[in-house]
Amino acid sequence: MPKRKLRFREMTPREPILRDRLALITGANRGIGFAIARALAREGCNLIITGRDERAVAKARTELEKLQPAKLHLRVLAQSCDVRSQDSVDYLFALVRGLHTPLDILINNAGIGHPNRTVGELPYSTWMEVIDTNLNGLFLVTQAALAVMKRGSTIVNNLSIAAERVFPGSAAYNASKHGALGFTNTLREELRPKGIRVIALMPGATDTAIWNTLWPKAPRRKMMSAETVARIVVDALRLPESTTAEKIVVMPSSGTL
Ligand code: NDP
Repeated sequence: MPKRKLRFREMTPREPILRDRLALITGANRGIGFAIARALAREGCNLIITGRDERAVAKARTELEKLQPAKLHLRVLAQSCDVRSQDSVDYLFALVRGLHTPLDILINNAGIGHPNRTVGELPYSTWMEVIDTNLNGLFLVTQAALAVMKRGSTIVNNLSIAAERVFPGSAAYNASKHGALGFTNTLREELRPKGIRVIALMPGATDTAIWNTLWPKAPRRKMMSAETVARIVVDALRLPESTTAEKIVVMPSSGTL
């Protein structure tokens, strides 16, 4: 049997492509957003992390600062922000502009689910809250971010497989994510001539707190970890500027639950 050749190239350290870049992640105090923040911190990327819960955002910041690679001075700005509120988003971006550094990466991740209800049973207030967070919030943050993003930067919108498929009992979530995909695809075409990449991230079931609302008894052991999703996002961000992954579907090997 011929000996397998060792491929040393694969074992060399990763190029520090994301080092000293600046990334803003919404909903980064837990779940997938926090996992992406951790993965970017390990790459030496400076971070702006947000979420509504101020204490949780501050705690996330402390944990992220511990991850910084040796000899690097990672900057982590933690700021509470409700993506549904224009004032809150404006305040956040006033701080971003104050850094006098262009934003290289925007991860639109903040999102909520809702309990399983048929359309006939779904309260209008729930419908509004989900659309306001997952769709209107996506618009508000993206519009504000465009003013501080330049050629070569990347926007990742964390949608879901629910952006293309439907799950009965999740009408507001499905509608918000389908709408968010339409927004994302439009944004990509508008920004293509400007050299800003737009990625639609579509994870399947991932083991995070969102399932406490969506389906509390969902089988967590069949889900992916947030770290798995984060690793794939960071790999996409590391692609050369002339390339982009326009749509990333990440599924647990068990498929749809
Ligand atoms: P989590 O509930 O763990 O995280 C949601 C995050 O969004 C939290 O940081 C939360 O912080 C923040 N958030 C919620 N509402 C707002 C708001 N109005 N303004 C600002 N931040 C807000 O869930 P996930 O990590 O799973 O969810 C992250 C994203 O991933 C969502 O968009 C979700 O739809 C998407 N997704 C999740 C999948 C899964 O199976 N887990 C699969 C596919 C996509 P705070 O409450 O402090 O505001």
